[in-house]
Amino acid sequence: MNNKFNYYLKGKKGEYEVVIGLEVHAQILSEAKLFSPSATKFGQEPNSQVSLVDAAMPGMLPVINKFCVEQAIKTGLGLNAKINNFSIFDRKNYFYADLPQGYQISQYKNPIVGEGKVILDMPYGTKEIGIERLHLEQDAGKSLHDQDPNNSFVDLNRSGIALMEIVSKPDLSSPEEVSVYIKKLRSIMRYLNTCDGNMEEGSLRADVNVSVRKKGSKDFGTRCEIKNMNSIKFIQQAIDFEAYRQIELIEDGKAVNQETRLFDNKKQETRSMRSKEDAHDYRYFPDPDLLPLKLDSDFIENIKKKLPELPDQKKQRLINEFKLSSYEAGVIISDKETSAYYENVAKNSDYKLASNWLTVELFAVLNKQNKNISDSPVSSINLAKLINLIKNNTISGKIAKTVFEEMVKTDGDPEKIVIDRGLKQQSDPKELEKIISKILENNGDKVKQYKSGKEKLFGFFVGQAMKETEGKGNPNLINDILKKMLK
Ligand code: ADP
Ligand code: MG
Repeated sequence: MNNKFNYYLKGKKGEYEVVIGLEVHAQILSEAKLFSPSATKFGQEPNSQVSLVDAAMPGMLPVINKFCVEQAIKTGLGLNAKINNFSIFDRKNYFYADLPQGYQISQYKNPIVGEGKVILDMPYGTKEIGIERLHLEQDAGKSLHDQDPNNSFVDLNRSGIALMEIVSKPDLSSPEEVSVYIKKLRSIMRYLNTCDGNMEEGSLRADVNVSVRKKGSKDFGTRCEIKNMNSIKFIQQAIDFEAYRQIELIEDGKAVNQETRLFDNKKQETRSMRSKEDAHDYRYFPDPDLLPLKLDSDFIENIKKKLPELPDQKKQRLINEFKLSSYEAGVIISDKETSAYYENVAKNSDYKLASNWLTVELFAVLNKQNKNISDSPVSSINLAKLINLIKNNTISGKIAKTVFEEMVKTDGDPEKIVIDRGLKQQSDPKELEKIISKILENNGDKVKQYKSGKEKLFGFFVGQAMKETEGKGNPNLINDILKKMLK
């Protein structure tokens, strides 16, 4: 394992560090939009989930959705952040065909959530990433350019959906850290049920700010912002491309322009989209249709009291309760369903074996079948039963793998599979002694060689005994008996 952070990029004239800050847009899990009662379901017929508010008809007024506010507070608490009792909705003014209001309702100077932090488990130790803020805002609609050769269309289903923008401090230092950071955010929000984190459906997207500086330098370089990325793999590729592009500019004595860029994943490059607009270009001002959002401390406290166990807490508990290593615990808690599955197996069998069978055998099957743990072909109850069969010596670990294969195919009950297929371990010493003495009789020459010092042959005898018992002989017993008889 790599225990030292060493992500430095080589230019022609020296080494560089990359500095990364993320603006993550997370769609709030909510049946209704941020300021209207329209539905928010993904993949519906275009313009079938649009109210007069979302279409910005004259005179329509936004009404804040209390549930979305609660979701943002929950998420803020999950990010160990300060919840602000006073926040303001501002209008961010710009024109785009899929933005019927001509402005986006967002939060600017007074966001609902202030500074917080997220802990990353890296191979070289834990790293804390600062959270700058979390604010509420509405999503825009979607322009459709591929429906007709001569026209573009607009789908407003997404218009007005509630987003949380989570802004990190520029504390991320490698594509690997960015990947772990996004997964950690996603895991926290899934535990909280505040965002489903589905990047393919666009419920989690990120603007990625990248700059470089000479290794060891304390000053920040000029950043570029790569817009609207929804794949961790592409984000990592974009960071690498962008960092080297900036290094080359700097080494050629040119300046990095602060600008907005797009990543082209086919060409594996970022391209300039527009020069970066400054905040004042957007003419932010408080939305006169919405009052400031004032939250009672009691309201916040009540939400805090009802928070579920979060990934970091769960990890610590699994380490204490089940004596798991930090690494194992980290793998198991990465999503809520996996940890629930694990706890079910562990509580009903053996927690060390449970961790091995889950993270090695079952994960391999899920990977191969491209399935989530919630669609596991083996239920947690049945896996616990299988582990208990190993523990009470009904079957060996090796036969267990055969039984497991059968369980994967049929989700069958392991106890029944063992009986039906006659896989029960042979643990009767008398029977085994009989089998073994026959093997020794038939292999007199090998016994002689063994006794004159060729100890490697022991394995041969074990193998023969296993073959005779069709793999069902109790390996410990076979060992003991062989040792005794070969003396
Ligand atoms: P803007 O709206 O101008 O993009 P934000 O404050 O919303 O500004 O976001 C700025 C993001 O850029 C933050 O995530 C921050 O961590 C990051 N950032 C700021 N300075 C740098 C830098 N020099 N290099 C990389 N990222 C940076
Ligand atoms: Mg930005």
